[in-house]
Amino acid sequence: MARAQKLSLPVVGSFEVVRVPDALPAEQARDSATEHAIPDPAEGVIPGDWRMSCLVEVANFSHIRRHLGSVEAEHLVAELTARVAQSIPTVVTSHVGRATVQFDLVSASRCGLEPVVRRIADACAATFSIDGVEHTLTVVVGAAACPVTQVDDVRLIEEAEGALDEARLSSGPVFRDISSGAPTLDRLALIRDLPAGIEQGQMFLQYQPKVHVRRQEINSAEALIRWQHPSRALIPPNDFITIAEEAGYIMPLTLWTLEQVIVDQRLIAEDGNAITIFINISGQLLGNDAFIEQACKRVAETKVMIGFEITETAVIRYPEIAIKNLMRLADVGISIAIDDYGAGLSSLAYLKQLPAKELKIDKMFVLQLTSNSRDPLIVRSTIDLAHALDMEVTAEGVETPAALALLSVMGCDIVQGYLISRPLSISDFREFMSADRKLSLAVTSQPTFTRAASFWKSA
Ligand code: C2E
Ligand code: CA
Ligand code: CA
Repeated sequence: MARAQKLSLPVVGSFEVVRVPDALPAEQARDSATEHAIPDPAEGVIPGDWRMSCLVEVANFSHIRRHLGSVEAEHLVAELTARVAQSIPTVVTSHVGRATVQFDLVSASRCGLEPVVRRIADACAATFSIDGVEHTLTVVVGAAACPVTQVDDVRLIEEAEGALDEARLSSGPVFRDISSGAPTLDRLALIRDLPAGIEQGQMFLQYQPKVHVRRQEINSAEALIRWQHPSRALIPPNDFITIAEEAGYIMPLTLWTLEQVIVDQRLIAEDGNAITIFINISGQLLGNDAFIEQACKRVAETKVMIGFEITETAVIRYPEIAIKNLMRLADVGISIAIDDYGAGLSSLAYLKQLPAKELKIDKMFVLQLTSNSRDPLIVRSTIDLAHALDMEVTAEGVETPAALALLSVMGCDIVQGYLISRPLSISDFREFMSADRKLSLAVTSQPTFTRAASFWKSA
């Protein structure tokens, strides 16, 4: 098979390889490419680095070739490749057959890699124009990653091919971490355990407050799910949400979350606090009429103050149905926030059409706000854009007083992050809310927000 000839990864010993410190937006990655370029191939990789092979297959290549001819079909694949390279300048590209492209890269840590796979998938998801006619490529994305010292080239590419096989059967990109012995088995075990996990009360929620900067008060909170597996350590959402999506469990999981939030919301209301609780909604569910109907019904029946955080990628993928369903949600009083803004492909055209009142800037821009020069520009222009569209802006990942001060000057409306509070259990969250109320009552002169935030943090 043609792919087998590409087993030798360009990563080790190629001067084209550039280490990226973490998950990077295109602009940052470009910066990083100049800062971290390694001129000597022999020193290309550092022990502790991770490498990843990501395969992108154009599933409707034959169809496109039949309709447009070989030259145009190949041109589309070349364009797709160029788009990915533009979005993530640090990737090394090789063509593996006519309809498959392999992207390799090295990163300083594992956590940067999964977002890169999503970025690659996003870059391929938008339409391509030939002679004024729009074409959509249906792509399947599978990737495997491991520490550079752990696995040989053959195993890495085999695992990437395995991930691609799995991705053909699922609805999104598949990422395999092959650093631990039997990742596939692990994944299957999680799929097997998930329904019981949902039914037997192993899932629980934590709440992270969102603070209105000018009003200096908690105006909402985000519900974040965790899985207390009986025989494993606590499993964070990033390790099971994608699995739940692929295995068809995301609807029961999200409906469980909604029911739990309804219960917790009543407790918060009993304390005399009226705030909106936001739930993260997987993109898949925006196209699921049964879910939308059930969610609308429950919110209308219970009259709780609920918000949904959705990513713009979900809207870009299925614009018509997503916009229609978002309208239905907004009609029953569910507040809509656009999550992870800036992390995927941003589209002004869609933003304008959405009934969203809030835009959340992805934490990857906020975390480095005061340590690099590009992110403040991105954040500033996002705030201006959102305000022009009559939306409030939330910055997530606010960890330092310096970031808070800068965001405040830039006109950011709402902040969320470890500076104010980590995600809390419902009982700790209720205590946190009442401590905040006592604080507001006790402060007579105009408090600065930073002072209030430091109180909150120590509460
Ligand atoms: P997200 O929607 O971007 O949520 C914010 C993540 O940032 C949370 O991670 C939160 O704990 C973390 N975070 C908050 N403040 C800070 C900070 O100051 N610094 C840093 N470094 N991180 C901060 P978490 O809880 O691990 O959730 C990860 C992702 O899992 C969420 O990202 C969300 O996309 C997803 N998720 C969580 N709960 C659910 C759920 O019920 N349903 C669905 N579909 N997805 C969920
Ligand atoms: Ca969120
Ligand atoms: Ca986010």
